[in-house]
Amino acid sequence: MHYTTIEIDCQQFINNIQILKTYIGKLKQNIKFCLPIKANAYGHGLVGIAKVSEEHVDYFAVANLNEGEVLRQNGIVKPILVFGAFADEQVAGLIKHQLEITVSSLYKAELITKYCKSGRLKARIHIKIDTGMNRVGVRVSSAKSLIDFVVRQKELELVGVYSHLANSDVINDEFTFRQIEQFKHVSDYVKSIDGNVICHLANSGGVCFYPESYFDMVRPGIAAYGYLLDMIKPECELARIKPCFSLKSMVTYFKVVAKNSGISYNHTYITSEQTRVVTIPIGYGDGYRRALSNLGQVIMHGNKYTISGIICMDMLMVDIGYEGTAYVGDIVVLIGNQGTENITLESVAKLCGTITYEILCGFNERIPRIYVNNSKT
Ligand SMILES: *Cc1c(COP(=O)(O)O)cnc(C)c1O
Repeated sequence: MHYTTIEIDCQQFINNIQILKTYIGKLKQNIKFCLPIKANAYGHGLVGIAKVSEEHVDYFAVANLNEGEVLRQNGIVKPILVFGAFADEQVAGLIKHQLEITVSSLYKAELITKYCKSGRLKARIHIKIDTGMNRVGVRVSSAKSLIDFVVRQKELELVGVYSHLANSDVINDEFTFRQIEQFKHVSDYVKSIDGNVICHLANSGGVCFYPESYFDMVRPGIAAYGYLLDMIKPECELARIKPCFSLKSMVTYFKVVAKNSGISYNHTYITSEQTRVVTIPIGYGDGYRRALSNLGQVIMHGNKYTISGIICMDMLMVDIGYEGTAYVGDIVVLIGNQGTENITLESVAKLCGTITYEILCGFNERIPRIYVNNSKT
């Protein structure tokens, strides 16, 4: 029994994947679908999301060896691409768990080759090209020589070549077109050597706004979790994509507090009348941001209230007014719907001065993820 939970609507999540696949399929055929599930599946729960979606996707992508290992230990068999760079000592683990490795330099390609030779092993490789993010990735000018090297090693199977878009959440962006163009050069080259290599570039923005970026596979993360880019028009079929994430807690304490009393640390909130105050067992120790003190809202009993005072590590308080109704055990919604009321993740991110991604990733392991099927479709 947990007071605070993250509830994932599995049906809505699968719907989102299907909506994306249908949309992509109308523009280009035979595009593989890779679901990024790094950072605990954007806070939705790594293993839970992988299990729910495995039959609906072609690929998973994670950030590092550890995430990939957890998936394999939990019986996930689909291909898993590890996006991030790896330490030399991690090669063994990556190969042991049949994870597909991102290679961004000749040095790492040689390292993997050497390891494979010593144990008569083979490694599955994706070469990462930097087309303008200026983070990991071999430059376009050196891409051909790295591709040539990898193709020549019988220990290395060149499974994919990919790059990442820096600006794809902007429509008709000049720089994005340039990145796509750059990647196209590399893709044409690799296809001339081996037509089976999977070329991939599109993140959510690419999927929604740049069909030219699809190549052989797409990697939409945030859109699959239900967070649409602002510019999607209501008549677009993508507008049916919806969040599947709710953050819920429960009233665990109720008290009447006198007029002019300070609530929580430093008394930043003072009651203006004799009033009723409830305590809710969630705080910044769970990843519910302290920046939401005196700003964030909750829904209880179908009404919206603002959090009163500083959010503590494990609790927060809400003044529900002298006439307010709430009972110990009442469900509290911090992100999501209750009745006709709604608190969006976007509004929470905005209050914190950040993006949806960061708020989602901030909810830690202390909050259990619960997978339910409650969509009306
Ligand atoms: C995280 C990530 C994605 C997904 O990005 P979204 O903006 O969530 O669609 C795609 N590709 C790479 C390399 C990533 O790191």
